[in-house]
Amino acid sequence: MEIKSVGVVGAGQMGNGIAHVMALAGYEVRLNDISQDALDKAVALIGKNLDRQVSREKIAAEDRDGAMARIVTTLSLKDVAQTDLVIEAATEREDVKHKIFETLLPDLKPETILTSNTSSISITRLASRTDRPERFMGFHFMNPVPLMQLVELIRGIATDKETYDACLGVVEKLGKTAASAEDFPAFIVNRVLIPMINEACYTLYEGVGNVRSIDMALKLGANHPMGPLELADFIGLDTCLAIMNVLHDGLADTKYRPCPLLTKYVEAGWLGRKSGRGFYDYRGDEPVPTR
Ligand code: NAD
Repeated sequence: MEIKSVGVVGAGQMGNGIAHVMALAGYEVRLNDISQDALDKAVALIGKNLDRQVSREKIAAEDRDGAMARIVTTLSLKDVAQTDLVIEAATEREDVKHKIFETLLPDLKPETILTSNTSSISITRLASRTDRPERFMGFHFMNPVPLMQLVELIRGIATDKETYDACLGVVEKLGKTAASAEDFPAFIVNRVLIPMINEACYTLYEGVGNVRSIDMALKLGANHPMGPLELADFIGLDTCLAIMNVLHDGLADTKYRPCPLLTKYVEAGWLGRKSGRGFYDYRGDEPVPTR
């Protein structure tokens, strides 16, 4: 099946990036949100990010203009339902996602493929509440979408081969690379990455090292581009904690217990860069370690 149009539900951090790369690759994009303000901000940000790509000579000015012309915003899910591929990238709450798919169902074309960009919710469970579990899968982009090469493609228990192959074709057309994952908590990237960050929190909690020495150790000793605590601040400590809880609950293994220090930072509202303070304090000119 050839995919020509893509509906993106949710115009936040991920949704605007997904709309950006899809439009640049030639897909007709319908970008939906419940908030007109979020849609306006997303279009402005996509324009700014495309301009940056033009000024760095990554794309031509015509590519930018073509991409912008292919993005239509809408507050109605009815407009999204008529596309060939829907990528749901709304707030990470299961009730929100169920409601979106429920609202889409009556207006969908029979062949429309439904996908979710969720980082942690079961694809099989989301699919089971729709009329097409075989045409449902996980389409998991990394943040920031225009820059990151990987997309995880997650098969639910019922996902059929035609659906998987159609999504793989889209990833290839985007010039990105797919990693195939089965539907288990946190899939591949976060299953490996977030416990590593959690372990860095334990290293700090137990006094094995301070913030600077832990980050420096992994950067210079393991060739990581960012230290694990710096990375945790970038992702958001609340997100890291939520993913640890998904692993702990979903796999029922004590090796995934969230570090009490990570919990304490989240309780304090020290969520990382987005709140101005996490393992580092970002309120001055330079980030300063908080431990
Ligand atoms: P965000 O908070 O930046 O954006 C969410 C958007 O969804 C908001 O604009 C909100 O108005 C909108 N929304 C909420 N309810 C809606 C509804 N019923 N219909 C339409 N829009 C609705 O969140 P985000 O970081 O972009 O995350 C979106 C999804 O992507 C989540 O499932 C998250 O797990 C996943 N994800 C996030 C990251 C990341 O690093 N942030 C990475 C990979 C995947």
